[in-house]
Amino acid sequence: MNTPQQLFMMMREEYSLLFFAQCMLLGAIIGSFLGMVISRGPGLAQSETGVIYQLSFPASHCHHCQRTLRWWENIPLVSWFLLRGRCHSCGEPIPGWIPGVEIISALLFTVIALIFHRPLDIFAGWLLVSFLIILSVMDWKYFLLPDMFTLPLLWMGLLFNTATGSVALSDAIIGAAAGYLSLWSLYWLFRLLMKKEALGYGDFKLLAALGAWLGWQAIPYICIIASCTGLLFAASYQRRDNTQPFPFGSYLSFAGLWVFIFYHYSG
Ligand SMILES: [Zn+2]
Repeated sequence: MNTPQQLFMMMREEYSLLFFAQCMLLGAIIGSFLGMVISRGPGLAQSETGVIYQLSFPASHCHHCQRTLRWWENIPLVSWFLLRGRCHSCGEPIPGWIPGVEIISALLFTVIALIFHRPLDIFAGWLLVSFLIILSVMDWKYFLLPDMFTLPLLWMGLLFNTATGSVALSDAIIGAAAGYLSLWSLYWLFRLLMKKEALGYGDFKLLAALGAWLGWQAIPYICIIASCTGLLFAASYQRRDNTQPFPFGSYLSFAGLWVFIFYHYSG
């Protein structure tokens, strides 16, 4: 008699091509859902009618002509290609980040399924990827890192490490505190010395969550990778408007994912 774990391993080994194709398909479908969550982000963050209501109503529609999408206009990636990237009725271009999120989600779901072997690890990896995609795009687009995503991500990291032991629980708890405190002190240092607010409270909570997932040892790496990619991008991007806030949460998410994948890939 095979346990579910053994059945899963058998499926992964014997039908590997089919298995990874299914992971990619699931990633694209989840990516389409993440895109919807992101586009409703600012409304969700200050929702008074309840998150479930906000997520299910109104139905997916074109943001230009407000027409409700039919089922065939809602298929991840396929619809975007069928419609050639434009709304079927008003011809308004569909924003490029929507298929972008679906492609990135499909790829990352496959990468996670390739790296990990136990079902629980794969599931946790998918959860982390989904939350980091939401947070990075939301910070990039709206300069928002809502508590409703950063805080659950933090305690999910602690629960996941309790269940799997892939990071010692003490390292994860210290990681959560160290992640928050390091950016919090940086924020006050900047504020007192330069009279400038360089970071937001969402950034502290996001780094706390990454500390809970990856342990305190990962915090310096995450900070270095996030700062370097952020500076590199800001320099090449030449943001004309210096008064615009800097979406540091997007770079933190990227760095966290990078450390997560390479830590597990090499270990
Ligand atoms: Zn339209």
